[in-house]
Amino acid sequence: MENRAFLSRPHQLEQKLAQWKEQAGDRLRLDYEMSYSGHKVYGITLSDWSVPQSDKVAVYAAQPHAHEPATTAGMIDVIEQLVFGRHTTGSATSLDVEKVLAKTIVTFNPIGNPLGSDRSRYDYYDGSQIPNERFWCIMFGEDPDRPGKQWHRYDVFDTREVKAPDPIGIVYEPVDDFRHVEPNRSQLSSYSRLFRRMDAQYRYLYWLDLHQTEFVNSPTQCCILLPLKDAAPQSLHEGNVAWAEEITQAWQEAGYTTISPKHTSYTGVQAEYFRQNWGKVHQRMNRITTEVKNNGADFPADKQMAAEALAIETTLRRLIG
Ligand SMILES: [Zn+2]
Repeated sequence: MENRAFLSRPHQLEQKLAQWKEQAGDRLRLDYEMSYSGHKVYGITLSDWSVPQSDKVAVYAAQPHAHEPATTAGMIDVIEQLVFGRHTTGSATSLDVEKVLAKTIVTFNPIGNPLGSDRSRYDYYDGSQIPNERFWCIMFGEDPDRPGKQWHRYDVFDTREVKAPDPIGIVYEPVDDFRHVEPNRSQLSSYSRLFRRMDAQYRYLYWLDLHQTEFVNSPTQCCILLPLKDAAPQSLHEGNVAWAEEITQAWQEAGYTTISPKHTSYTGVQAEYFRQNWGKVHQRMNRITTEVKNNGADFPADKQMAAEALAIETTLRRLIG
C-alpha cells in the first residue's frame, strides 16, 4: 500500500505539482531541465513576487541521489506547507508562510535523477526488506567481477570503456547512449545543469543539499556535513557552522540521535570529484549537506522524511529571523 504522506516518486511529484500550481498561482514558478531519459527535472520556486528580489534571500534545496527518497518526501512536505499551510500528513504547518515568502526565494529540486528514482523497486529503505550489502549493489550496481559486492563509484563512466554492471546502479544518470554520471560529481548531470539555470535567475546565497546514509554500526540518525576542510573561506565557514548547529539542535529537540557537524571526509579521487564540482560554489555561498539515516531499522521512513523536512524548516526560520 502506498504511504500517502511519504511521496518520493516522479509520478507522485507530478500529481502534487498540478495541485500546487492550481493553489499557488503566480507564487509558484516552474523551471525544468529535460534529462536524456526524457524526464523533467524540476526547479520549483516559491516567493511573494510583489516583494523586490533585492529585498529577499535566495535559497536552494536539492536531491542528487535517487536511492535517498526521504529527501524528496521531505521537500514535498515543505512545499506542501508553503502552498497549503499544512504537512502532507494533514497537520497544520508551524512556519510563518507569508513571512517566508516575503523574505526568501526558495527553490526545490526534489528529484534530481528521476530515471534512477523510477528504477528503484522500493518507495523507501527502512532496513526491513534488504541488507545494506544488497542496498549498495542497488545504488552502484553489482560488480560483474565480484558477485554480491558493489561496483565502482565514478563521476562519469562510458559503457564502451568499462565493464559495467547489469543493471547499472540507480545512483547513475545516463547523459547519452554510453555515458553515465553520478549527479553531484559531474556537471553533465541534470541536477548540475538545473542548478546553473536556476542560479542565473536567482543568484543563491544558501544551498541545502539533502542526503541520506546508512550510519553503519552507529546510533547516529542525523548529521550535517560541512564542505571539505578549507573549501570555504573563513566567513562562509563560520556561517555554515552556525547554520549546521541550528539544524542539529532542532533534530536533537525532535528526539533524533545526532553528532556534531563535521567536514566532508572524502579523500583521494572522491575528494577530487568534490573539488572539481564544488570548488567555486563553496567559495561563493553557504552550502551544507544533510545526512539522515537510510535503511536502518531504528529510523523508519516517516522519521527520515520528518528529519529532512525539519532541516529545511529550520533553514527557512533562520533566514527570516
Ligand atoms: Zn547522497
